[in-house]
Amino acid sequence: WISTAQVANKILLLARTTPVEECSGTEGLSLFYTDLDRSTVEVREIDKLGRKCVDSNQVFIDGLRIPVEDRVGEEGKGFSYILHGLNPERILIASEAVGLGRAALARAAGYANEREVFGRPIGQNQGIQHPLAQSWMELEAAHLMVQKAAWLYDQHAPCAAEANAAKYLAAEACYHACERAIFTHGGMGYAKEYHVERYLRESWIPRLAPVSPQLILCFIAEKVLGLPKSY
Ligand SMILES: Cc1cc2nc3c(=O)[nH]c(=O)nc-3n(C[C@H](O)[C@H](O)[C@H](O)COP(=O)(O)OP(=O)(O)OC[C@H]3O[C@@H](n4cnc5c(N)ncnc54)[C@H](O)[C@@H]3O)c2cc1C
Repeated sequence: WISTAQVANKILLLARTTPVEECSGTEGLSLFYTDLDRSTVEVREIDKLGRKCVDSNQVFIDGLRIPVEDRVGEEGKGFSYILHGLNPERILIASEAVGLGRAALARAAGYANEREVFGRPIGQNQGIQHPLAQSWMELEAAHLMVQKAAWLYDQHAPCAAEANAAKYLAAEACYHACERAIFTHGGMGYAKEYHVERYLRESWIPRLAPVSPQLILCFIAEKVLGLPKSY
């Protein structure tokens, strides 16, 4: 799942530089920013559900030699550098999910107002209104968690629990909003013309990546609730 490897000429690579049995914790991994040498790196594109504007790839590395000046920071400390990017990435993806969910909701409300069945707009029925109102609340609540996580990050305060919670809540709220947008459009929800089928496909990415919802639950259970590590 390496993004943009079809066009990249550089690669950010985390590689083991000390055998695992000689290290403790997450040490022994080093970070490199180096040329993507296609004579030693094979790139195979993955055909996928959505996100067509960015290529995703399997990458096979065999015999790539990296000069020491391409190492980022100290040898063996690479994982600690990668960690710096994980929380902001979750906050960013959570924001994206809130935005996508809101876009789906706006299309659903718009269609519910204009589509008339049996002489009145379908949006006049509570069966249509209530799920959309629920989605609005879910998205707003998720957005508050996104803001809290971003604020903590800006204060240089610990924010892993909030960043993970924001990613989880926003992705789930987004997915529900996209699903409800399709239901609101009825059969037309399945037509590409109304875009909501694409929104649903795109909503899978913030759900699955950069960390799955199940692993977020594992993290919260362990780090926030003090339960034994399960993975
Ligand atoms: C479009 C797209 C783009 C991506 N881009 C990048 C990228 O640019 N760079 C990059 O490094 N990665 C990228 N990824 C990878 C992504 O981060 C991973 O796919 C994701 O973190 C899930 O890991 P996995 O696929 O290895 O799932 P696995 O670890 O194989 O897990 C499979 C399933 O089992 C569940 N599971 C596993 N362990 C447990 C457990 N202990 N308890 C409960 N459930 C469990 C998981 O939650 C998941 O649902 C991308 C993925 C996608 C789909």
